[in-house]
Amino acid sequence: MIGVRLAEDLVNLACSGGWTHLAVCRLLRGSFVRSVDLDALDDATLRSLRDWTHQLRSVFDSHSVAARTEHLNVLLEEGVRAVRLAVHDGLPPHLHFAGTEDDLVQRVKALTSGGLAIFAVEAEAGRMGVCARPGCGRVFVDTSKNGRRAYCSAKCGNTHAVHRYRERQQGAGHSLGRSVSAPAR
Ligand SMILES: [Zn+2]
Ligand SMILES: [Zn+2]
Repeated sequence: MIGVRLAEDLVNLACSGGWTHLAVCRLLRGSFVRSVDLDALDDATLRSLRDWTHQLRSVFDSHSVAARTEHLNVLLEEGVRAVRLAVHDGLPPHLHFAGTEDDLVQRVKALTSGGLAIFAVEAEAGRMGVCARPGCGRVFVDTSKNGRRAYCSAKCGNTHAVHRYRERQQGAGHSLGRSVSAPAR
């Protein structure tokens, strides 16, 4: 799940407005990407990662299996250089889609596209999405039991539920001809 989580985190970092050298560095290090430090993350590298993150978003933002598959194939084409089974750092055996000699951007592309593809196989190209709360824009990976997740967080789910409840109350007030106390505009 490391590649999938990294994809999710990169997309959410970009949409949070907190895309900085330091924040990206922390994410990559947390995902066991080798030889990452602030020197390695120069402006050009950060820009390439940002462009790639934009492409990753399209996988979460797909509304059909066909569209998601198509987006993933575009990413795989660019991301996968080789496939090897690897064991290191106490991690369970997993696939590597790039070599250690590949540059940082290429290794991030390999990790995220390969990870998403494996997840898509398991999840039948479902269980990914964009938060259903209007205006949020964060993405999520759904590892819940029933696979019906619609929000990036419980907080967004609650906020949206309250909002819809208020809207229904107002709608009911209108349809019954009652006066609804709405702020004057
Ligand atoms: Zn590895
Ligand atoms: Zn949200």
